[in-house]
Amino acid sequence: MSLIVQKYGGTSLGDVERIQAVAARIEGYCKQGHRLVVVVSAMSGETNRLVSIGRQISVSGHYPREMDVLTASGEQVSAALLAMALQQRGIKAKSMLADQVKVLTDSVFGKARIQKIETQSLMAALDGGYIPIVTGYQGVDEHHNITTLGRGGSDTSAVALAAVLGADECEICTDVDGVYTADPRLVDAARRLDEITFEEMLELASLGSKVLHPRSVEFAGRYKVPLRVLSTFNKGPGTLITVERENMEQPLISGIAHARDEAKVTVTGVPDIPGIASKILGPISAANVEVDMIVQNTGADGLTDFTFTVKREDFDRTLALLKPLCEEIGAANLAGDKEIAKVSIVGVGMRSHAGVATKMFDCLASENINIQMISTSEIKISVVVAEKYLELAVRSLHSEFGL
Ligand code: ADP
Ligand code: ASP
Ligand code: MG
Repeated sequence: MSLIVQKYGGTSLGDVERIQAVAARIEGYCKQGHRLVVVVSAMSGETNRLVSIGRQISVSGHYPREMDVLTASGEQVSAALLAMALQQRGIKAKSMLADQVKVLTDSVFGKARIQKIETQSLMAALDGGYIPIVTGYQGVDEHHNITTLGRGGSDTSAVALAAVLGADECEICTDVDGVYTADPRLVDAARRLDEITFEEMLELASLGSKVLHPRSVEFAGRYKVPLRVLSTFNKGPGTLITVERENMEQPLISGIAHARDEAKVTVTGVPDIPGIASKILGPISAANVEVDMIVQNTGADGLTDFTFTVKREDFDRTLALLKPLCEEIGAANLAGDKEIAKVSIVGVGMRSHAGVATKMFDCLASENINIQMISTSEIKISVVVAEKYLELAVRSLHSEFGL
């Protein structure tokens, strides 16, 4: 009998009818003889609502522990509702909070990492004939504090559970029927991929394709969890995330990712001396702000400019941290821009082909889109452009690379 871990996202649990439909889908799997562990996300919009109320109260402070207690509650609601919907159908199911399962994480509130998952209570539930309905996104630290894994983190909860349970497959059931060549909400011509490699999926997810939480892909790759993205409500094979096959014909580019949630910070006229980058970025990383792209210009007259990007939600905090520092190091100016977006092309085929970057830049130039920053790795090229050009950039690149 196969064991499948299924994760249902917010839209799939958006209202009572959808919760009933998910229960019916689960019933179908049970009738086929599968054993299931189900992971749920909060009902759609719920986590945003909770974050927003939290911020209205905590105007002048930062209360990460309480924000986690607050936002983790969304998953508790959907787990209980789905368990009841299943019980109504005569199916044995029970909700299990991360604390009851014991999804042990570190104590970094808001972006906790899973360290260990105990399987005893889950196995006991399964052996008793129950379908455990586990709250995604949540964890608990060694001091018994509730933690959360970061936005979109219930994908990671599901894959981690699948890994420790040795599940035959982890299904991410969502509102799209697979992984597309670009976000189908942005590009009408985007097409579903039957398969994509872990490596490419990890890049796409890390670069903004929110169809999968990046750490879920990392986990699946590391623990060899067969991972599939598919639609909750339409039948179909979805997209399988696979290991690279040696003779698989590789397209040059497999997909395009975009991220709107970034902001750019520029410090100009900084003394061009050793240690300046660490002086600027040190306090920022100490404050747990993630820095993404970094560009430092060649110096002239002993001075240089330093530009980097952070998450838009960290922008104000970053400027506040940098202000006193800029005075201290005698920088000429501190500037920022929130209206930027990052567009990335990803593909393992890039490794063996020169000229991909030129093709990308030519395409953007022909649309008169100015590139503000560039960053590359072996299988991806990212550019920062003004946010108003985001859609045009993604659509043009999608057609340029024949996706
Ligand atoms: P869930 O609530 O089920 O976790 P998410 O909203 O987190 O769903 O993720 C699904 C969404 O991801 C889709 O609705 C789609 O707009 C977006 N998305 C972004 N990039 C892609 C892509 N390459 N393929 C499919 N969906 C994508
Ligand atoms: N409910 C959480 C969020 O909205 C976790 C998730 O959906 O995966 O981010
Ligand atoms: Mg999601």
